[in-house]
Amino acid sequence: MDGTQRTFVIIGGGLAGAKAAQTLREEGFAGRVILIGDEHEQPYERPPLSKDYLTGRAERESVFVHAPGWYAHNRIELHLGQPAVAVDPSVREVRLGDGTRLPYDALLLATGAEPHRLGIPGTQLANVHHLRRLAHSDHLRGVLTSRARAGEPLVIAGAGWIGLEVAAAARTLGAEVTVVEPGPTPLHAVLGPELGAILADLHREHGVAFHFGTRPAEITGRDGMVAGVRTEDGRELPARAVLAAIGAGPRTALAEGAGLDLAEGGGIAVDPALRTSDPRIFAAGDVAAVAQPGHGGTSRAPGPGGGARRRVEHWANALNSGPAAARSMLGQEVAYDRVPYFFSDQYDAGLEYSGWAPPGTYDRVVFRGDVAKRAFIAFWLRDNHVLAGLNMNVWDVTAPIQHLIRTGHPVDPEALADRATPLDSLLPAA
Ligand SMILES: Cc1cc2nc3c(=O)[nH]c(=O)nc-3n(C[C@H](O)[C@H](O)[C@H](O)COP(=O)(O)OP(=O)(O)OC[C@H]3O[C@@H](n4cnc5c(N)ncnc54)[C@H](O)[C@@H]3O)c2cc1C
Repeated sequence: MDGTQRTFVIIGGGLAGAKAAQTLREEGFAGRVILIGDEHEQPYERPPLSKDYLTGRAERESVFVHAPGWYAHNRIELHLGQPAVAVDPSVREVRLGDGTRLPYDALLLATGAEPHRLGIPGTQLANVHHLRRLAHSDHLRGVLTSRARAGEPLVIAGAGWIGLEVAAAARTLGAEVTVVEPGPTPLHAVLGPELGAILADLHREHGVAFHFGTRPAEITGRDGMVAGVRTEDGRELPARAVLAAIGAGPRTALAEGAGLDLAEGGGIAVDPALRTSDPRIFAAGDVAAVAQPGHGGTSRAPGPGGGARRRVEHWANALNSGPAAARSMLGQEVAYDRVPYFFSDQYDAGLEYSGWAPPGTYDRVVFRGDVAKRAFIAFWLRDNHVLAGLNMNVWDVTAPIQHLIRTGHPVDPEALADRATPLDSLLPAA
């Protein structure tokens, strides 16, 4: 079939979907490209929703992946505000909520993830928030900046990335903030206690109160509004609003309905070419659990999907895997195997984290730089192999950190800690 007669459908109007559409055109695909998104907005980036967009420092226009006219200019057919409700691989057809049927030659599932719910009494009250969409961020900013009940805190359930970023944004807006977290430190399951303690100190210095080792048991209300949170260990915390920031799960319902293989740890199972168990259907971004080709450093650090699969809920993964899936749809050879990368901004601390080294996988953390001044790199090691690295207020080091992880080359911890030893000199000769 001539390429102009083929139709590629993308379900999911987020970063992965929008970048896949862009790549299809950049690679010269001349057929139909249809992008379906259940949100009303054109595809946008989510990181600002818990940072500068939430505080009001970033304009709404700045969050969109492409300028408004880009889609029409590139002949990307947008179906927005419209969920895809079924995929039928036997006839290669997508069905939309309004009954429209769209045939495809290749299909990309980039349906992202959705926040977990608290599942405790009181979650139906007004001012219990989740944060995934632009409207959620708008709503939360409205609550945080309203003068009514200004003395009462925002209670955040979960000291993960989003919980911490919102804590920082809310303090910047002058709100009182209390964080309730079942682990012993922030981000304990991701970073372990060493970095968790540094993050806890950062937030305490900015006036955040933490309650570790417990979770919300009930949200109490008054006149249909949040009034407080009772924790499992019996504390009564006043609250004008609650943010549930307890993680997200992949949106796999369509894949399940289509009979595609799912990964044991969650997500749509794909091979390194991002192809699902149906050769015409691909997946990318937060929803995809990618089989790892297995090599050096990263093969020792399997992702949250467990074993040989990795599902990464990070911006850079959406940015890179969307285009990789598009190239795969075009029949190009693709082996998607990036070191996971995450960035975050909290107050005046900017940080980047590469790799994967939760507690239990590493035997020591080596610091390079000035921890007290929060200008350092932390390396997680096992048997002197670098599993992960986090740089805080130190820049342009992601490439050598990822190279150390990827090569799996053993390093001398003292040289790693020594700022006078260039990181590049620790890498094996090419
Ligand atoms: C508040 C917030 C802050 C973040 N900050 C950072 C950060 O600082 N650094 C970082 O690395 N990462 C960050 N992330 C993570 C990053 O934004 C995600 O990894 C990224 O958005 C994933 O992109 P995606 O395209 O896979 O999915 P999404 O962005 O979730 O897009 C999927 C889209 O598909 C739509 N969809 C789902 N099902 C259907 C259907 N059946 N029909 C039609 N449409 C459907 C969804 O509504 C959504 O619009 C943050 C995430 C959030 C929520």
